[in-house]
Amino acid sequence: MPREISAGAVIFRRSKEDPEYLLLHYGLGHWDFVKGNIEKGEDEKETVQREVVEETGIGNVSFVEGFREVIKYFYRWKGQGIFKIVIFYLVETRRRQVALSREHIGYRWLPYEKATTQLTFQNSKQVLLKAKSAIEGKSE
Ligand code: ATP
Repeated sequence: MPREISAGAVIFRRSKEDPEYLLLHYGLGHWDFVKGNIEKGEDEKETVQREVVEETGIGNVSFVEGFREVIKYFYRWKGQGIFKIVIFYLVETRRRQVALSREHIGYRWLPYEKATTQLTFQNSKQVLLKAKSAIEGKSE
């Protein structure tokens, strides 16, 4: 079965109140984090930086050290089963402005409760919860 590996980012920004997380509305209908296929010669963090720029226009992000979460799922594309692995990092930005690519049809900055409701998939909700814990456990 074909296998696909992507890397992505839970992007957050500190607002006056709680941290806000960036979710994207995929053309396929679901809401999820920034992510994309790891290209030849790239390491995971390079993919994340490239995808963040391509999908949001955000250039300057800082990685939260030690955060790396892997999810796996299976989907069908044109009748063929695909096994997918996505590795998520946690990154912070100070920017609020987002420039979407053609891949997505919307975006939202949301605090944790709203973000977890908006996310389509359970495995991504788990990643968000871990991100929240990592941010809360981290001093500024
Ligand atoms: P990428 O952003 O890695 O380039 P993509 O936009 O090509 O990915 P996916 O977001 O992986 O595609 O979506 C492909 C299929 O997998 C869709 O049918 C989607 O509903 C499903 N899918 C996406 N994310 C998940 C998930 N976390 N759990 C289960 N199914 C998912």
